[in-house]
Amino acid sequence: WWGQVEMGPPDAILGVSEAFKKDSNPNKMNLGVGAYRDDSGKPFVLQCVRKAEQLISDSALDKEYSPIVGNADFCKASARLAFGDDSHVIKEGLISTVQALSGTGALRVGAAFLDKFHGSKEVYLPKPSWGNHTPIFKHSGMNVNAYRYYDAQTYGLDEAGCFEDISNIPEGSVIVLHACAHNPTGVDPKPEQWKEMSKIIKERKLLPFIDMAYQGFASGDVDRDSFAVRHFVEEGHNLVLSQSYSKNMGLYGERVGALTFVCSSPDEAKRVESQVKIVIRPMYSNPPINGARLAATILNNSELRQQWLVEVKEMADRIITMREQLVSNLRKEGSTHNWQHITDQIGMFCFTGLKEQQVERLTKDFSVFLTKDGRISIAGVSSKNVAYLGHAIHEVTK
Ligand code: PMP
Repeated sequence: WWGQVEMGPPDAILGVSEAFKKDSNPNKMNLGVGAYRDDSGKPFVLQCVRKAEQLISDSALDKEYSPIVGNADFCKASARLAFGDDSHVIKEGLISTVQALSGTGALRVGAAFLDKFHGSKEVYLPKPSWGNHTPIFKHSGMNVNAYRYYDAQTYGLDEAGCFEDISNIPEGSVIVLHACAHNPTGVDPKPEQWKEMSKIIKERKLLPFIDMAYQGFASGDVDRDSFAVRHFVEEGHNLVLSQSYSKNMGLYGERVGALTFVCSSPDEAKRVESQVKIVIRPMYSNPPINGARLAATILNNSELRQQWLVEVKEMADRIITMREQLVSNLRKEGSTHNWQHITDQIGMFCFTGLKEQQVERLTKDFSVFLTKDGRISIAGVSSKNVAYLGHAIHEVTK
């Protein structure tokens, strides 16, 4: 049956982890995949998650199917987390939120809905964007285009290019925005730049699809990190929002996320939700129960929520400290390059500016594994290996 099937290429990011596993150098570092590690390099389970697990286990809940749209407490809490407790779109019933298979699943269901119901099939992604955005939208039948975002000269936002490109996007198209901690560049628009983008997007009559995979992970403050989402809502945009709890609750393998449509009326929100259910049903019927129970327990229990906010900030702060230590180690090594972008960029990733040959040398000579585009996951750096990384980067950039 499948004799003609050709071997597919390995996944760009997961392939890095496979190569890492095979390396026998005791100093090896895996800076490819975006998963948080504590300062001893170990996967980290948040204390609030451990406590929520206990509470759930003690209450001996059943294992019945979830509704198609998932756990209602979880959906409500997710919307409040994104839009704020006092948001008028919540109070006025203008939203429909469904549980999703983490951020990826939210994007995939959102894209499938747009393919079916949105007037335009054109989607515009920032250049560059998370590597999975393109296949997710294409897989859903949408056409993928790009707008300028990152400036390789300044390692920052290409403000003029970005605004100009967005001004030229055809009316009715979908524009994907990273709410915070842009992946892979670590470059976020400043509040003033968000305001300008919101204005242009409104003038062009574009539909914003905001991907929020790192709320709390950028600044350590969940409200600050949702500035863009809340500003767009205040400005009256109807939009689509994907949320993920992979990073900010460390629930990667639990696959817990949410998809929200901000609509023009409560009636529209109900009609949209009825159709989202029809999209989900043949895909996976209904979502798993455990991750959403964990997240809902944390978000809806004031003590656990408080503890979670502290733990998110701890993770974000450790990453910021590692950025500072990496720059100071590069200086100690005698590097004369300007590495300020390492501390200017935020979130889990840093776009180092290393060229492909330099990345190859880092991996071959120093067993430092990262994606070809020079992106490193700062979450994989610790106080024990930051000096080694500084040395290795200096050696390949001399
Ligand atoms: N969007 C962006 C920008 C991401 O970086 C990620 C995670 N790498 C996701 C969505 C989805 O991740 P998950 O499905 O694990 O929530």
